[in-house]
Amino acid sequence: MTDCIFCKIIAGEIPAQKMYEDDDLLAFRDVNPQAPVHFLVIPKTHIPTILEAEAGLLGKLLFKARELAVQEGCGERGGRFVINCREDGGQTVDHLHVHVLGGRSLGWPPG
Ligand code: AMP
Repeated sequence: MTDCIFCKIIAGEIPAQKMYEDDDLLAFRDVNPQAPVHFLVIPKTHIPTILEAEAGLLGKLLFKARELAVQEGCGERGGRFVINCREDGGQTVDHLHVHVLGGRSLGWPPG
């Protein structure tokens, strides 16, 4: 999708601190980190939200998010895996993404 910021990152049109890439997925650090560890895992296909994603892709996204979280040092104390969705979920970029946050204790519930 031409005006999608994450599609532009995938295409290499805007820079990102990439952590992982394969044929289906890309992971990169969030530009406005909310915790010492904060990165995003996205599908390379433009899928707007979790509500449009199929099971196989969701499995791949979460499995890779978990693997990278462990690599980033969140394997012992854990962290948070978040998928914001549409208006009520506070989604600001309409390209499906899993946030992974860790490295500090995170509050609950969200505001
Ligand atoms: P959400 O509110 O769930 O849609 O989250 C979108 C996230 O994308 C936010 O945490 C932003 O900080 C992050 N973000 C937006 N633009 C970029 C970018 N160019 N590179 C890395 N992260 C970004």
